[in-house]
Amino acid sequence: MSKLEKTLSIIKPDAVQRNLDNEIKEIFKNNGFRIINEKKIQIEKSEAEKFYKVHETKPFYNDLCSYLSSGPIVVMILEKEGAVKANREIMGSTNPKDAAEGTIRKKFGISIDKNSVHGSDSIDNAKIEIDFFFKD
Ligand code: UDP
Ligand code: MG
Repeated sequence: MSKLEKTLSIIKPDAVQRNLDNEIKEIFKNNGFRIINEKKIQIEKSEAEKFYKVHETKPFYNDLCSYLSSGPIVVMILEKEGAVKANREIMGSTNPKDAAEGTIRKKFGISIDKNSVHGSDSIDNAKIEIDFFFKD
């Protein structure tokens, strides 16, 4: 049995702009996630740069940070047994073209950059990312 875990999910600007946030939240709830905290915010580019610092050497870093700060996002703490991996599974592959049927990115993703959702990729990063948005 996996342990009860928390992970950070972000509904990205492309999805919020298309009013998909409630539909995406329903998918999480229907898959056994509890949304234990959430807020709709818009961040500064400098904050996006901090959040995505791990990607700072990548060619897509600047566009990625501009994009994440381009409009409202919904940030959520999701809780479930094995939440980190379970969230990555329900999200689907980074490129919606490669994402499996039934995943959020397959259903709603537009392109590799506008792929509708973010999810923490490890338990350690989940803690860091939850603190980033929810530590006051
Ligand atoms: N990304 C991009 N171009 C790429 C690879 C990634 O625009 O070639 C964006 C994409 O939006 C992705 C984010 O950068 O969600 C972070 O990349 P990562 O490899 O961490 O993918 P994820 O963990 O989001 O699946
Ligand atoms: Mg990632």
